[in-house]
Amino acid sequence: MAQSSLYPLRFEPIYQYRLWGGRQLAGLVGTPLPNGPVGEAWVLSDRDDHASTVGNGPLKGQTIGQLMDGFQKQLMGKLAGCFRRFPLLLKFLDAHEMLSVQVHPGYPAGRPLPEGEKAKTEAWVVIDAGKDSRIYAGLKPGATPDRLRRWITDGTLADHLASFTPKPGEGVFIPAGTVHALGGDVVVFEIQQNSDTTFRLYDWGHVDTKTGKPRALQVDQALARIDFAGDAAGLVNPILDATAPERELVFDCEPFRLWRLRSDSPFPVGGVDLPRVLVCVEGTGQIEHDGATYAVERGEVWLLPADLGVCRFLPRHAVNMLEIALPSSTTSIAN
Ligand SMILES: [Zn+2]
Repeated sequence: MAQSSLYPLRFEPIYQYRLWGGRQLAGLVGTPLPNGPVGEAWVLSDRDDHASTVGNGPLKGQTIGQLMDGFQKQLMGKLAGCFRRFPLLLKFLDAHEMLSVQVHPGYPAGRPLPEGEKAKTEAWVVIDAGKDSRIYAGLKPGATPDRLRRWITDGTLADHLASFTPKPGEGVFIPAGTVHALGGDVVVFEIQQNSDTTFRLYDWGHVDTKTGKPRALQVDQALARIDFAGDAAGLVNPILDATAPERELVFDCEPFRLWRLRSDSPFPVGGVDLPRVLVCVEGTGQIEHDGATYAVERGEVWLLPADLGVCRFLPRHAVNMLEIALPSSTTSIAN
């Protein structure tokens, strides 16, 4: 195969130790877990500290960053030149314990982001949850910065957050500026803007067993970035596609769109001159492109370069997949 010819690209997971993590990702992502609590599997990441590498075919071992440099036009199609780095960061999370209550910066009206800070809107698709699982997304009415400080000090902050018991298949939207947390043995797929800026408000009294100390909080910075007027966070109602019965739109926001695809018969995947990402949540099958097939297993993440156009997915049995589109606006802030 010529070096210039792209094909469906499977990426290797990068596991992350987290004090709140567990062992459930072993049953989801195909490669062996390292020892200890594993909270995150980064499944597509264009970051210098954790760069995803291709796991199949002639480009095996190349990082997503090297592909963005060497194959920008073939990879990104109409979006070529819009993003220096791949604009989304994709992960599976296993929150055995509660994650810290946190907030990511956004684009508040009239308030430009501080130098070096990048916006992060994120969203979760619940993969697995139990009776003790909990998701916190947004503030209950009546919260003010002063009250939040008091609730953090007296340990009652969680009582003032909107929360619910998640169920597998649910979609949860966390726009930038939303106070959020999750835990109690919940496994989610996480889609977010490619940014690592997080401010912790509260950490449930956790002590990091690696350091023997609580983790640092950034209460002042967090309070300055909370969108107190925001009401878009929380459970979403997916929209069925009238023309494609296997397809429902779960998230539709400026930084990304995400569909759920469920079928036991072949269906189209991929975009016209646009890249798409496929995440296999349940079942197995094959991507068919240009007379070749590529076996897809549960827990795998595949990038369909723009050059490929629309491909076919051939399920072996019923599959549950996610398909992700990048920002459609070419005015998006490049990472
Ligand atoms: Zn977050």
